[in-house]
Order: sequence, then structure tokens, then C-alpha cells
Amino acid sequence: MAMNKTSILANNILTTEGWLSDQLLTIEDGIITSISTLNSSPDSVEQQSPTNDLKTKIPADCKVNYLIPGMPNMHSHGFQWALSGLAENYSRADDSFWSWRQLMYKFLQILQPEDLEIIAQALYVDMLKSGYTSVGEFHYLHNDCSGSPFQQKELLSITMIEAALKVGISICHLPVLYQYAGFNKQLLEKNQQRFFLSNNNFITVVENLRQQYQHHSMVNIGFAPHSLRAVDIENLVEIEQLLATDKPVHIHISEQKLEVDSCITHFKKRPVELLYEKLDIDHKWSLIHATHTDENEIRLMANSDATVGLCITTEANLGDGFFNMDSFSKSNGSWGIGSDSHISIDAVEELRWLEYGQRLQLKQRACYASENKKNTSQNLYLDAVKGGAKSLGFKQGDIAVGEKADFVSLTVPYCYQELTPEQILSKWIFSKRENWIESVMVSGCWVVKNKQHILDDFLRENYAKILNKILSNC
Ligand SMILES: [Zn+2]
Repeated sequence: MAMNKTSILANNILTTEGWLSDQLLTIEDGIITSISTLNSSPDSVEQQSPTNDLKTKIPADCKVNYLIPGMPNMHSHGFQWALSGLAENYSRADDSFWSWRQLMYKFLQILQPEDLEIIAQALYVDMLKSGYTSVGEFHYLHNDCSGSPFQQKELLSITMIEAALKVGISICHLPVLYQYAGFNKQLLEKNQQRFFLSNNNFITVVENLRQQYQHHSMVNIGFAPHSLRAVDIENLVEIEQLLATDKPVHIHISEQKLEVDSCITHFKKRPVELLYEKLDIDHKWSLIHATHTDENEIRLMANSDATVGLCITTEANLGDGFFNMDSFSKSNGSWGIGSDSHISIDAVEELRWLEYGQRLQLKQRACYASENKKNTSQNLYLDAVKGGAKSLGFKQGDIAVGEKADFVSLTVPYCYQELTPEQILSKWIFSKRENWIESVMVSGCWVVKNKQHILDDFLRENYAKILNKILSNC
């Protein structure tokens, strides 16, 4: 098979070592194979060759100004995007996550596979345009509208994976085990039947998907127990052993205070404590939200090398609470970000509000920075990329040789041309007003160019039809 090769000249690139200027990157079959410094301005095509002393014409296919790593989106429930912004009216005095969930259940009574396909494609294009180059799809929608399994049990999983591939975003697909409505094996409600898979069917779904996509470099198949309230912990221990590989495992944990209280009532333990007591939690695990965790749980998570998935805008929208980032970062915990319900699809907004949440609580500034690492924006961005990449099992944690070629190129307003790259990143994260993302590369292919995606026209029309269907039925 012919090798797919391309090259990029970048005035500035952001790496885990900091900013580098005037770099030539070579990419082969989606992987960065060389990065070298140019001796003079990249505007000239006559350059000193990086590999020998001969004057040679540099084979750069494009030039960019600011190139930064693509951001992994750790946590997505794709279908929920169609609902975002539609549950913002008063419904009752104690309105919370639980009342939002009722709207979601109503929507699931009408959602068909062909609707899901369009929603997922439109969502993933939006993610790319916002700088996310991979997504962790936490997928719990398995059955048809009546709650019965499809003939092909993994049909809706395949719908999501094929949508991602068509759009050009890498996907870590996480089929979800969701069997109970509450801690003491409460039976699922009627409107939760679309989520149910028996143990055997669940294992079949995961194994079939692993078989089907085993050679695809843009697809990873992990799995996800939904939460400790929706699975039986002893059953989870058995399933985890049966599916044990080095693939990612994600779980919602301690998102709601009510959930923590129920866990203590039932098990006399807090959720994270219980999880660590029963299972061997390591680097392949991601704990989504972990909002209501105490100091002992923070220490357990940080020491285990699991990644915490923070979904700040969704957590804010649902009124969940604040994650204790101060303690967790002081313990060198690994974390990433996710857009979850997709109330916002914007990595910048997630990072900005993660920092602002800490500032508002601690009454301090520059919370995610220190004497040795002074730039808050750079610390936030690079740590979210690194944690997210580990969580999804993709080698995209840095712009470095051997890593996946997942990049975002930024166009910066003319008035900022004299700023340093560090200042540009801070302008982008803390004060940008418009989208600076010009182009996005995933696995060596430019999937967004000049802010456009090839599916834009198709999706504009077809996604509108789905929204109309929701508005007239929910
Ligand atoms: Zn979630």
C-alpha cells in the first residue's frame, strides 16, 4: 500500500517542552516521523536541509502560523447534543440533573438509528471545528424505541463509529453496561429499557466491535460500566476480568450528591472508595466527574494513575458542583476534559471555567500554575491533552516524533501579531471572542480547512430536520 506522506512548516508549535519556532514536520501514514528546526524563515522555499548540508527545496505541503496538539474529548453522549439548550426553563423548585433526565428519556422514545447517524455526524464535525481530534463515546443507547435489542445488537455502536470515521475524528467507543435503576438492584424503569444489555449480550457487543475494528488506527474499543448505581459491583468485577485487556475502561462516578449518599447507605462506603476496594484501578481507567470526592478519594485516584474526566460546562449546566482540582493537582493527578451533554462544544470554555471555578472558590488567581510552571493556559492545555490521550488510548499527547498527527492550527487577529506564543495561547483561552481555529488535522489528514468541513452543506439541511422532529415531539 502506498505511503500517505505530508509535511507542514510551522512558525510556532506547542510541545510538552514548550513552544518551538520555525519547525518542519513530516507525517507518514498519520504518524509524525520527523520534526526539525529550520535555519531561516519558513517563507523561503530554499532552505538548509534538516538532514544534510545540501540546499534543497523543502517539500512542505502547507504552512501554518501556530500549531498546537489536537484536544481529546474524553466524554461524550452523542445523542444528547440534539437536546442541548432545550431544557433551560423552570420545571420545579428543586430542578436538577434528575429533571433534565426526564426530557432525555422523552427524546429517546422517538430517536431512530438514522436520526442518530445524522446527529453524530453533525456533532463530530462541530467537535473538530472546536479543536477536538478524538472522542470518547460513552454509549449506552443499545436497543430500539420499544426497548428490544436490534437483530444486530451492536447496530447503534456501529452507527456512532461509522459517523466518526466518515467525519474524520478518532473515536474510543465505550459500550456501556447499564442494568439497574439504583444501588440495591432496582429494576430499570420503562424509559430506561433502551440501555439494557444482559451480561452475555454486552460481552458479545464488545467482542464483535473489537473484532470488526481491530486493525483501524482511528478506532479503539473500550467499555464502560455506567455507574455504581447502574451496575452490580460484584458483576462488574467478573465482567472486567472477562474483558480484561489494555483497552480503556470508563465509569461515571460521584457526579451527584444523592448518588454518593445512596452508596454510603447501601455499602457504608463512598463510591470511589468502593470502586478501589473491589477493582484494580490503574492507568486504563477513567473516572468521569468525580465531583463529590473527599481527600482520601482524591489521593486514591491520583496515586492509581487513573484519569479524571472533567466536564465543566455540563457539570455547571446540571448544577452538579465543583471538583476539588486544588488537592488533585497538588497530588499530580491525571485529568482531561469532555463535552458530555454538549451544552458547550468548546475546549477553551472547558479549560477557562475549570480555572475560574477554582478561582471563585479559592479567591485566588492563576490557580493551575506554580513558580516553576507559570503559564496557566499552557499548563491547562497540555495537561488536558496528555490526560485525555491516555484516557482514550491514542498516542496524541504531544507534538513529537512517533505521536499521532493530530493538530489544530490557529489564526490570530492581526493586532496580536507582536505577542509571544505564550501570550497568544493565554489570549485564546482567556479572552477570545471568535473562533481562532483555522484548520484541524487528524491522523495526518486535514479534516477542517479554512473553518470548513466537507459535510457542512449536507449536515446543515439534514440536522435541521432532526431538530424539527424533536421540537414537535418532546
Ligand atoms: Zn456522562
